Amino acid sequence: MARAVITIDDACDPCWTKSKTATESIMDIELDGKTWFFCAEHEKALARELVKMLGDPGEDKS
Ligand SMILES: [Zn+2]
Repeated sequence: MARAVITIDDACDPCWTKSKTATESIMDIELDGKTWFFCAEHEKALARELVKMLGDPGEDKS
């Protein structure tokens, strides 16, 4: 059976930090010269944290 090989470089960083599990990432984010990778689950968690921190984006700023 073919098995997807995930390199550690683009595996989800929170998953790796938490449980040393290489989970396929679906997005990456670059801030301050560092790049993080996120799986679907952590992408949602990140979005929740950002909304908590930044508030909802303004739909109409005019
Ligand atoms: Zn993850």
